[in-house]
Amino acid sequence: MGEQRMRTKPCKWCRQPVAYRSWWRSRRYCNRWHQTRKRISRILELFGEAASA
Ligand SMILES: [Zn+2]
Repeated sequence: MGEQRMRTKPCKWCRQPVAYRSWWRSRRYCNRWHQTRKRISRILELFGEAASA
């Protein structure tokens, strides 16, 4: 009855619904490992662009 205050957002790596309580602490990943992997892939992407340029 309108008690669903827990918001969910899909993890940016595995798209698993991630629940978070406060808006200022919005988590985009279900765990730190996925956040790290996304960061690494982003860095590699930047390196790839720099190498091809
Ligand atoms: Zn995830």
